[in-house]
Amino acid sequence: MTDDRREAALQYARKNKEKNLSALKEILTIPSVSTEPAHAADIRHAAEWMAAQLRGLGMQKVQIFPTARHPIVYGEWRGIKNAPTVLIYGHYDVQPADPLDLWKTAPFEPTVRGDSIFARGASDMKGQSVATFKAVEALVKTGGLPVNVKWLLEGEEEVGSPNLADFIASHKDLLACDFAFNPDAGMISKDEPTITYALRGLAYFELRISGPANDLHSGVFGGVVHNPANALAELIAGMRDSKGRITLPGFYDSVRKLGREEREELARIPSDEKYYLEKTGVPALLTEQGYTPNECSGARPTLDVNGMISGFTGAGSKTIIPATAMAKISCRLVPDQDPLEVGRQMRRYLEENAPADIRWELVEMHGGDPSISDRDNAPVRAFSAALETVWGKRPYFKREGGSIPVVGTMQQLLSVESVIGGFGLPDDNFHAPNEKLHLPTWYRGIEALIHFFLNLEP
Ligand SMILES: [Zn+2]
Repeated sequence: MTDDRREAALQYARKNKEKNLSALKEILTIPSVSTEPAHAADIRHAAEWMAAQLRGLGMQKVQIFPTARHPIVYGEWRGIKNAPTVLIYGHYDVQPADPLDLWKTAPFEPTVRGDSIFARGASDMKGQSVATFKAVEALVKTGGLPVNVKWLLEGEEEVGSPNLADFIASHKDLLACDFAFNPDAGMISKDEPTITYALRGLAYFELRISGPANDLHSGVFGGVVHNPANALAELIAGMRDSKGRITLPGFYDSVRKLGREEREELARIPSDEKYYLEKTGVPALLTEQGYTPNECSGARPTLDVNGMISGFTGAGSKTIIPATAMAKISCRLVPDQDPLEVGRQMRRYLEENAPADIRWELVEMHGGDPSISDRDNAPVRAFSAALETVWGKRPYFKREGGSIPVVGTMQQLLSVESVIGGFGLPDDNFHAPNEKLHLPTWYRGIEALIHFFLNLEP
């Protein structure tokens, strides 16, 4: 019985490939750039398009909720009493398209070239959302949905989701579910299905050093004062030891240890030293002693200078001792680090190490919590089996170096885990010119989602 339904839904998706692609093209023509006020009407238009899709799928309670900035689209179908409820996350906003002259075809005139469709938002993440719509449509039009679904589609992801947490906090009953599905992540390659299970968090600082009241003549005063630029460099240099470990006091105390089984699983991922050398163009890697590059980029915390400024930086030379120096410094965090705690550790490091001959000021900027989810619960197993059915191989379980803050927000506010996995590829140029979506992978993705929903049936 289930097999017939499976086959019917898959056949429906295969027969409707062209129609599905047309739907994707429709939403890709709407320039829903969330950061630019000039696109407010387009954002609205995109939200309405999303709501219309949900209505077309037979969703109930479809509603466009206004927020302080861009609206949130909601819809649900809860037709089966004893089946789990999946909350499907998506965002319908996109990054700005500039620089426009680097696009081969216009960013909001979706164009198929070769195996891919090129448009802003194709991969991040309108294509992913449309894949979820089309998988649900295939089920609805054949044997019916095997699970209950709710959709939460926001229009502010690319500007940091400023109103999402408030919305979730004030709609906990509406959004109540068994788990969330977040397709805003991708695959390692088109042949390597991937499930992301951990995301790094962030702590961001501005460190300001000051010394003399104004820039000094380095001939007259050089040798008697501590140069703020030198002092900043010394402080930063001291933040990491020769083993590549961060020296902020207590920095590793709450870092969750990697177990043997997890390390073995991570070691399957085909991104070795050579991969990182090729991707970065550096002459050699610098990693934390005792960890593979792959572990360092996903499962270990970091500290990096993101920018620094001091003194004379124009052409030619000018012999001064600068009055001030500033660095932007950020740490990527892993479970169970807390950005506020890391802020206190940074402050303690400075208290213990900053010399008395300069003044320092630490500004704590935005932070984000890291998150990690179970690799072995029923929804993850259902998704893993779905990927394996379509791709014919067991998926890779990956820890992502970046963050998807909504995953942590849902953990905290709704007490639910997210299954994270989309069908974008690393070379999709998201946030960059010529963003694309690999269509064969997208069609396979829709089939995988059909299997996923059917695998969840109790
Ligand atoms: Zn995204």
